Amino acid sequence: MIAAARFLKHHLHQASTTVNDTVGELMFAFLQYNWLHLLLVEEVSMSLHPKPVSRVPEATARVARAAFPKGNAYLTLRDELETIYTDSQFAPLFSHRGQSAESPWRLAVVTVLQFAEGLSDRQAADALRSRIDWKYLLGLELEDPGFNFSVLSEFRDRLIAGQMEQKLLNLLLERFRGRGLLRARGKQRTDSTHVQAAIRNLNRLELVGETMRHALNTLAVSAPAWLKTRVPSEWYERYGPRFEQSRLPKTESERDQLALQIGQDGWQLMLWAYAPEAVQKDAAVEILRRVWVQQYYIQEEAIFWRKSDNVPPSERAIHSPYDLEARFSQKRQTEWLGYKAHLTETCEDDRPNLIIHVETTQSTVQDEQVTDPIHQALAAKDLLPKEHLLDRGYVDTNILSDSQEQHGVEVIGPIKVDTTWQAQSGKGFDVSCFTIDWEQLRVTCPRGQVSQVWGDSKDRTGNPRIYVRFAKKSCRACPVRADCTRSAEGPRTLSFKPRPQYELLQWARQREHTQEFKDRYAKRAGIEGTISQGTRSFGLRRSRYIGQAKTHLQHILIAVAINLARFVDWINQVPRAATRTSAFAALAQV
Ligand code: SF4
Repeated sequence: MIAAARFLKHHLHQASTTVNDTVGELMFAFLQYNWLHLLLVEEVSMSLHPKPVSRVPEATARVARAAFPKGNAYLTLRDELETIYTDSQFAPLFSHRGQSAESPWRLAVVTVLQFAEGLSDRQAADALRSRIDWKYLLGLELEDPGFNFSVLSEFRDRLIAGQMEQKLLNLLLERFRGRGLLRARGKQRTDSTHVQAAIRNLNRLELVGETMRHALNTLAVSAPAWLKTRVPSEWYERYGPRFEQSRLPKTESERDQLALQIGQDGWQLMLWAYAPEAVQKDAAVEILRRVWVQQYYIQEEAIFWRKSDNVPPSERAIHSPYDLEARFSQKRQTEWLGYKAHLTETCEDDRPNLIIHVETTQSTVQDEQVTDPIHQALAAKDLLPKEHLLDRGYVDTNILSDSQEQHGVEVIGPIKVDTTWQAQSGKGFDVSCFTIDWEQLRVTCPRGQVSQVWGDSKDRTGNPRIYVRFAKKSCRACPVRADCTRSAEGPRTLSFKPRPQYELLQWARQREHTQEFKDRYAKRAGIEGTISQGTRSFGLRRSRYIGQAKTHLQHILIAVAINLARFVDWINQVPRAATRTSAFAALAQV
């Protein structure tokens, strides 16, 4: 017990000065390893004997043709592609021994169809049994009973454990490439959208209460006897029901008191759990510890509830014990708890627009952090574009230059705006109003004064900057000082990027105002339609699953479903949907 107290106290003490939860990450990784290990052990009992994709049975084909005399999207897919996947492509997910697994190519297609139609696992298993168009696409006999719905969930777990989720999209892209619908070095565009995690957004009090409930509920299953001999009777009342705002105390002091009580209870539970020979390896206890590190600290043998200015930043803050990776973020008027989906698609006039890459990140990851990973992923698929149309958030000077130098990709997108008040006010002297002499290392201001100090500095992320300062005396006497600096007494200072990036930045800003840029950039807007299609028809903005890995799998499946729908439209020569004009707006064009 003493050793466990020391262990916990040490880490909670550490957290009172820093929220870095390195030990927690390591332990969590250990637990994840165990989970994967369990999955692999289970995998040994499922074997795969790959079979070639057979023809559609005669009776199935006859009934399907009779049911859909004018055709059907799934019949078209089968006739045009025969199959998207084969069993052998999924062989690494299965053993050679043990109980025979369901055909993975069929499981993969059913998983895609689920997202094409928004079906649950049970509904998908029922559709496989009852729908003739599904049977035709999957080449099944009319009498085929399908499989139990639970097989789908297990297949998704296998895909993630085997890191094969990207393969679902990449294999389809290879088929499209073989048909000449896809080529490298064309035009592509990327944009992102917010994705709500499959959890409730909890306030801090609900979070600690629910984390405690989660730990107790888990231990009640994994170690019921151990738990029952320890917990006081009042815990059953306190942690039995869900923690919901409506049930919580209304006054601030009562809420603080409850938060402290929960903190002490959680601390006690961890003391029991981390004692030698106890249940310390239970994942729920580890989650409890990670949340307590973020919400409480220990000082002089007492536990304290952190003030709101002493909690982790959004990038690290856990918001629910049920999804540790979901993060809270805000973009303009949109606030959400979860993830971001980044879709990259082709946009060429003579080919269908196909989604060729999907990234899923935590919601707090900035778009510009994803540009290079996207280019690297496209390079690995041999699908790098010649021109990449990107929103402002994805573009900075490093990305402009690195994309060209490392990947031969021309990034077309507006660069981040100058956020200094001088640039924003419209009449102030921003950096573009000054003349920089790079050889002499000096700057001349709009009033003809020459800078006094030129030095090296760094920005918040450690990138090099040039720092320049003018003479105090000349700035004080300047008649246009109000347009130049807001300092009461001090001189004007400037900070800008080193010469190559600075000149690139100025070039990029000027480029945005040219008609040629506007004409080329206009095509980027089309990705909004894809995101709208993904959201309205395929549930892109709402995660069905817990955690980033499964949410990413969902996004891949949606991308495959959208691509298949577009392929069928292309085969059937359905014109691309144009941007709708309202009746009133159309009146203006008459
Ligand atoms: S305030 Fe200083 S730097 Fe700015 S215009 Fe006047 S003299 Fe030049």
